[in-house]
Amino acid sequence: MATFQKFALHVPSLEELAGVLQKGLKENFADAQVSVVDCPDLTQEPFNFPAKGMCGKPRITEVGGVPYLVPLAQTDKVYDLNTVAKDIELPGAFFLGAGAVSSRAVGVNAEFIPIALTKNEKQPAVNGSYLARINPADKRCLLEKYSSKYSDYEFGLMANLYASEGQPGKVLEVKANGRTGELNFVSCIRRTLEKHYGEKTVGMGGTFIIQKGKAKIHIMPAEFSTCPLNTDEDLNNWLNFFEMKAPLICQPVFVSRDPGCDLRLEHTHCFSHHGEGGHYHTDTTPDVVQYLAYLAPAELLFRIDRPKETHNVGRE
Ligand SMILES: [Zn+2]
Repeated sequence: MATFQKFALHVPSLEELAGVLQKGLKENFADAQVSVVDCPDLTQEPFNFPAKGMCGKPRITEVGGVPYLVPLAQTDKVYDLNTVAKDIELPGAFFLGAGAVSSRAVGVNAEFIPIALTKNEKQPAVNGSYLARINPADKRCLLEKYSSKYSDYEFGLMANLYASEGQPGKVLEVKANGRTGELNFVSCIRRTLEKHYGEKTVGMGGTFIIQKGKAKIHIMPAEFSTCPLNTDEDLNNWLNFFEMKAPLICQPVFVSRDPGCDLRLEHTHCFSHHGEGGHYHTDTTPDVVQYLAYLAPAELLFRIDRPKETHNVGRE
């Protein structure tokens, strides 16, 4: 029986969050504007998601974790988004986030970019996910629509997911241009929340577009490491790093602090319409970078199949 934890998050009003985040972002960006808006129709360009919005019973979950990838991959760790939706008490949930593919299903290891509406009595599942893997021909990124011989909703090892009913509604719109500080966009928001809310855990998710500039993105190798990856240095030597260009559509999941669930505090995967995608680290063009985000605070946090043996390697 996989371990399971449920935790009620602190949920500030959108108006309060807008004020808190705008102040924090201005310490790390030349310009920042945060406002409360109606969520744009996410079925439209550039998102093309299978749900119109990201509102209605917002919750986040971390499934599995990095300890199932390093020091050595535990390839028997496979999950299904439809099952996760039931586990988080939201069958039919619309998921956005970051994870790893099911290697048995895809045939290789790769980055999973989950964008999926799951099934319930009222609706069939709709798959909009991507995977980013290393192209064996040129060792560059190969971004593909996700499909699997088992289930298009199957993934492996780990995932950080933002779930909702996929409804229209009010969200935060965050614009930040010109990075002046060291923190990446997500870390800046997360640390601002941590500083302001202290012991209260705030969790958020959604989507953001890197509209201008380039970003540092990693993609895991197609083959799992056969020698143990024991440190961040080992892991970084194993990963493939790229500089990818805007526009990149990124799905972040983050919590201001860990309430004792052994969480990865932030995890963001991106895709594009020009064949690039993967795991977001930061932008590499601070002077020209432009971020546009739509984010919402989650009400509940679920921790599913938390690794018993853990470590702090690879949490970036
Ligand atoms: Zn990742």
